[in-house]
Amino acid sequence: MSDSVRNTVILGSGCAGLTAAIYTARANLKPLVLEGHEPGGQLSLTTLVENFPGFPDGIHGPELIENMKKQAIRFGAEIELKHAVSVDLTKPPFAVNLGKDVILTRSLIIASGASARWLGLPNEQALIGYGVTSCATCDGFFFSGKEVTVIGGGDSAMEEALFLTRFATKVTIIHRSELFRASKIMFDRARSHERISFLPNTVVEDVLDISKKEVTALKLRNVVSGEPNVFPTSAMFLGIGHIPNTKIFNGALETDRDGYLLTRDYVHTKVPGVYACGDVQDRRYRQAITAAGTGCMAALEVEKFLEAQGH
Ligand code: NDP
Repeated sequence: MSDSVRNTVILGSGCAGLTAAIYTARANLKPLVLEGHEPGGQLSLTTLVENFPGFPDGIHGPELIENMKKQAIRFGAEIELKHAVSVDLTKPPFAVNLGKDVILTRSLIIASGASARWLGLPNEQALIGYGVTSCATCDGFFFSGKEVTVIGGGDSAMEEALFLTRFATKVTIIHRSELFRASKIMFDRARSHERISFLPNTVVEDVLDISKKEVTALKLRNVVSGEPNVFPTSAMFLGIGHIPNTKIFNGALETDRDGYLLTRDYVHTKVPGVYACGDVQDRRYRQAITAAGTGCMAALEVEKFLEAQGH
C-alpha cells in the first residue's frame, strides 16, 4: 500500500482523541488528529477541573487539553484544525472526506464526542464557565452554600440536582412542562429531597448578568399563565441532554436510538480497524478520565490491529 495511506486517523481532539494520539504517537504510528468542530471538546468549555488525577490543586480545562496536545505533538502526532464531512468505511483503507481532500487510513479512531444541548439564550454562551454549565460533577463544588437551578425534566436533570444538594443550599429544577421524562425512582428521589424544589411549566428566556460576568438571575416565563418572572440564582446547570456527534456515521456504524455509537469489547465498532472512544460511545460516565481511559484502549487496539496486518 502506498505511503499516502496513513496508519491511523483520529476524529476529535477532546480527552479521548488526544489520549489516543499520545499512545499511537508513542507507538510511532504518526497519527493525524482532526480537531473537529469543537477543538478540545467539552473540557475546553469548563473552568477548573478538580477531579482529574495528578493535579492536586486542579487544572483549567483548556490548559489540560493544551498540555495533552503538546504531549501528543512531542511524540509526532499531527493535529489539524479540520473536520470530516463524511467517511467511507466499506473497505480498507478507509476514506475520510474533508470536503476538499480525502485522507486514506488503515485504521480510524472515532473520538468525536457529544455536545451538551444548550438552550440557545442570548447571554448563554457568554456565561459558560461563569455560572452557566452543563456539568454538575465538574462545577457543582463552586456553588457551595449558594442557590442554584437545574434545567430539564429527564434523568440527567434529576441526577444533577441530587448531586448539587451536596453543595448548594437550594436547588430548583425548572422544566418546560409538567410531564417529567425522568424515571420514577429518580423523580421520586428528587421530589422527596428537602433542598430540591420544582418550577414546572416554566421556560428560561435569558440568563443575567452579562455585565457582572456571573449568573445572578434567570428570566423565566410561565407557559400556562404567560407570567414573566426574574428568578435570582447563582448558577444554571443544563440537564437537557447531550447530542453525540455521529451524524457522519449514519448507516455505516451501529448506534443506539439516541445516536451513541455501539461498541463491543470496550472500544470495537462492528468494522475491524475502526474504534470508538470517549463520550461518542459513553452516555453513562462522561468524565474526562473515563474518556482518556477509552482513548488509551482504542490506541492499543489500533496498534494490535496494524501489527496483525503486518504494518
Ligand atoms: P432526556 O432526553 O431523557 O431528557 C431531556 C430533558 O430535557 C427533557 O425533560 C426535555 O423536555 C428537556 N429538554 C430538551 N430540550 C429542551 C429545551 N430546548 N428546552 C427545555 N427543555 C428541554 O435526556 P437525559 O440526558 O436526561 O437522559 C438521556 C438518557 O440517559 C435517558 O435514557 C436517561 O434515562 C439516561 N440517564 C440515566 C441516568 C441514570 O439512570 N442515573 C442519569 C442520566 C441519564 P421534554 O420532556 O419536554 O422534551
